[in-house]
This record gives sequence, structure tokens and C-alpha cells, in this order.
Amino acid sequence: MKELVIISGKGGTGKTSLTASFAALAGNMVLADCDVDAADLHLLLAPDIQYRADFISGCEAIIREADCRGCGRCAELCRFDAIASVRRASNGVRVHRVDPIACEGCGVCVWNCPHQAIDFPDCHCGEWFISATRHGPMVHARLAPGSDNSGKLVSLVREEARKLAKQQNREWVLVDGPPGTGCPVIAAVTGAARVLVVTEPTVAGAHDLARILQLANHFKIPATVCVNKWDLHPDMTEQMEAAAREAGATPIGRVRYDSAITAAQRRGLSAIEAGAGPLAGDIHAVWRNWQAVAAGNSGSANP
Ligand code: SF4
Ligand code: SF4
Repeated sequence: MKELVIISGKGGTGKTSLTASFAALAGNMVLADCDVDAADLHLLLAPDIQYRADFISGCEAIIREADCRGCGRCAELCRFDAIASVRRASNGVRVHRVDPIACEGCGVCVWNCPHQAIDFPDCHCGEWFISATRHGPMVHARLAPGSDNSGKLVSLVREEARKLAKQQNREWVLVDGPPGTGCPVIAAVTGAARVLVVTEPTVAGAHDLARILQLANHFKIPATVCVNKWDLHPDMTEQMEAAAREAGATPIGRVRYDSAITAAQRRGLSAIEAGAGPLAGDIHAVWRNWQAVAAGNSGSANP
């Protein structure tokens, strides 16, 4: 089983569109949509949910207002300012209440309430799914509003996708990673044999590419780079590929700007499925080069 982890220093680089095209090319694969904060692979792949499960992570404090004496001890101790004094709706008596968005689930208030008025149930932070798509199974998730355990959810989605690939003897796991360089990205790349960074030729793109390559180097993960919409700024593309090489990464291709991608997306298709001419050819080349690099051969840098 081989894994392709596709990441980008920021959102909007075309990472997910490329992932959908790679899914069409890979054939025998499992998809993992690890962009759990803003999942959008489902827009192109119309998944049919076959299995769903709760994502439980940590606990949250909930004050039973009927038992609260309003002493304020919990609010004094909460380092996250998650507890406020309010008036009980029934009789106007002052009690305390936890803001579930601000609560970090540390449990300090629970253990120190002199009247044992605080419950501490498991925190339901979202759901994850296994779905059927026209290219194969997809593991994906939805984080509950306000939940910030996306790193753990990313790890879960990736792990479930790997398990499924082993069970079903699938050749590939394609991971659509989250944007940025934070905890969710680290969860998506940890233990990966290699990553593909999708970027675009802009000043912001160059900056974000440098950051994501730093992260890959920090974790000693070999990186490959694809510049999307490269023809919008060929000079910048050259500079970014040179900077990528200096950082130890391997440029494995460029994908041109082509409105055919938008037309394909409107039809709910990837560029490969829509047969988007030269654009599809670019994506094919990146896929071939990725396979060559992953197999230990050198990938060509340019189209
Ligand atoms: S410590 Fe307990 S009794 Fe005191 S305000 Fe908090 S919840 Fe109410
Ligand atoms: S569990 Fe921790 S963070 Fe949440 S309200 Fe209690 S003290 Fe504050």
C-alpha cells in the first residue's frame, strides 16, 4: 500500500482539484479527506455515506445550575476564562455557567467545586464517515462548530483510510491534507514517506511554500512540489522551483491555468474525468513523475 499526502501552505491553491484528478488516475485507492475544517472533496465526488461514527475527544465541563451555589470558586480557577456568573432564569439567583467554546476540558473546575455541581461528560466533537465514491471508498469527517480538535480528527481519518486500504487490498491511499502549517497538517504528514506540496506562483504562495518545506524538513519528510497555474507568472514559478530545490525538495511538474477546470467542477467532475485537454495532460505528467520519484527514480521538473 502506497500513500500520497497532498498538502499546501495555504488554502485555494487547487490541492483538492488535483487530489480528485489523482483519484481518477490511481484506480485502486482509498481517499482520505483530511481537510476536516473545510472539507470539500465531497463536492466533486458525491460520496454515498455507508458508515458514520461519532468523533469523541476529551471532556467538557457543564455546571448543573440547580446545584450551583454561586460561590465563584470555579471561575477563579479557570485559566481559560470559560466560566461566567449569570442569573438563574427561574428565580434570578446568581449561578455560574461554562462557555462550551472557551472550555478546554482541563477538569480543574470539576475537581474543585465544593458542591460537586459540575458534570464532565465526553465531548462530542464531530462525526466521521466511510463513503462510496465512483473512484473507491473515501474516509471523511465533519468537525462540530467550535471544536478545535482537528489534529486528532485528521489522525483518525488517515488511520481509518489506511486500515481500509489494507483490508480491501487497495494499492493507494490518497490524503487530501489540510492547508497551513499547524497541528492538523502535522497530523496529516506524520510518518508519511513523502509529501506533495501544491502551490501557486504568487508572493504569498512563495512564502507559504517556504514555510511548509521548513515543516517537512523539520520532520525529515522528503517533499515534492507542483506549481499550479504556473503560466500566470512563469518567472515566479522558476524562482519558487529553485527555492524548493535549495530546500531539498523535488519539483515534479507544473499545471497550467485553464478555465476548463471550472467547467469540469460545474459538472461535478475532475479535470481528468472531463478530459480537459492540455490541463489533463499536465496533471497526468505530475502523477507519472510522482510515481517515478516515489519509486526512487528522478522526476522531471518541467512540462
Ligand atoms: S464552584 Fe461549584 S458551586 Fe461554586 S460557582 Fe462553581 S459550580 Fe457553582
Ligand atoms: S474544564 Fe477547565 S477550561 Fe473548562 S471550564 Fe473547567 S476549568 Fe475552565
